[in-house]
Amino acid sequence: MSEAQINTVSEKVNLMGMSPSKMKAWFAEIGEQPFRATQVIKWVHQLGVSDFDEMSNISKGLKSKLKELAVIEAPEVLRQLDSVDGTRKFLIQVSGGNAIETVFIPDGERGTLCVSSQVGCSLDCSFCATGKQGFNRDLTAAEIIGQVHIAAKSFGQLQVKGPRKITNVVLMGMGEPLLNFDNVVDAMHLMMEDNAYGISKRRVTLSTSGVVPALDRLSDYTDACLAISLHAPNDELRNKLVPINKKYPIAMLLASAKRYIEKLPDTHRKMTIEYTLIDHVNDRPEHAYELAELLRDVPVKINLIPFNPFNLSDYKKVSNNALNRFKDILMKEGYITTVRTTRGDDIDAACGQLAGSVNDKTRRSERYKADQPEPLRIIPFA
Ligand code: SAH
Ligand code: SF4
Repeated sequence: MSEAQINTVSEKVNLMGMSPSKMKAWFAEIGEQPFRATQVIKWVHQLGVSDFDEMSNISKGLKSKLKELAVIEAPEVLRQLDSVDGTRKFLIQVSGGNAIETVFIPDGERGTLCVSSQVGCSLDCSFCATGKQGFNRDLTAAEIIGQVHIAAKSFGQLQVKGPRKITNVVLMGMGEPLLNFDNVVDAMHLMMEDNAYGISKRRVTLSTSGVVPALDRLSDYTDACLAISLHAPNDELRNKLVPINKKYPIAMLLASAKRYIEKLPDTHRKMTIEYTLIDHVNDRPEHAYELAELLRDVPVKINLIPFNPFNLSDYKKVSNNALNRFKDILMKEGYITTVRTTRGDDIDAACGQLAGSVNDKTRRSERYKADQPEPLRIIPFA
């Protein structure tokens, strides 16, 4: 049992974030049949029941045993903000007095939930508000899946009947998911589990800035979609924007990402390349041509993200001209290229503006330094 699954106040296990396989193992450990795990998962994630007494297909004896050993706790919503364009942002309290942000973005038939994986981030990318805050702590699996739970509940859609509101989940909120490997993977298993949220593996995306050793292991645990935060076509520029590049340069990162995609059971899947366009930094035509060359043998689609300005940054948003020119070059070079439109402007819900309330500046010392080992905490499954 990982520490993260123990409720520190009561010392009871929090079943909210337990993956299906871990839940089955836990029921076996306490001398119960594994099918009980499926029953509890359905109660928690599809019916929103957190009180064992309400679980009508569980015997009285087992209920008391569960009450003695476990709790079911989602994090608490501090605030819900609704934008005029339908975007919904949740400010969510997590233990330790911190808050994280989760954003739901509707787009026609599609509804994407952008989920956080850490409080702050240690990797300190030069254009990212989360990075500017430094790292505070990893979220538990319960806090990660809890964001999906909270959002689904807010739409009255835990038990999905008819069209879903949340069709896609992207791990593109606060934090670097591959630096919180085991909790992120557990939560992803619950997102994709039919008896929980049942979201297709083609609609759950993990986005990483390039923690290569963790990426190398990812295919042993999941076959979800992969997005690589590239942002530059060469190491010289990427070193300035994404400091972890000094340790795991572009060639190493793309090779690892390619191996991940090639291991997926279904062919024709592509990784997404995220490229945040910053005015006069990485938005020139020569950057677009260099990017096209770099990605020639990699199965990709490219998502251009206009940089979202924030207080602590001097970077400027890309001009419309430069954005369109960049996109046209990539398309002429044969790449599927989309532009992420900024949504939820009125509620500060845009990509890279998620800040929660991590105000502890002393944590800045925990930022990534290229000459130190990154704080990898990968706990393999038993
Ligand atoms: N740590 C992961 C996932 C979270 S960041 C990663 O870096 O991939 C999610 C995406 O938002 C990344 O592609 C990141 O580069 C982008 N992003 C961060 N700050 C941004 C900003 N100010 N404007 C636009 N995109 C930004
Ligand atoms: Fe961390 Fe991603 Fe922000 Fe970089 S872009 S600081 S990896 S959250």
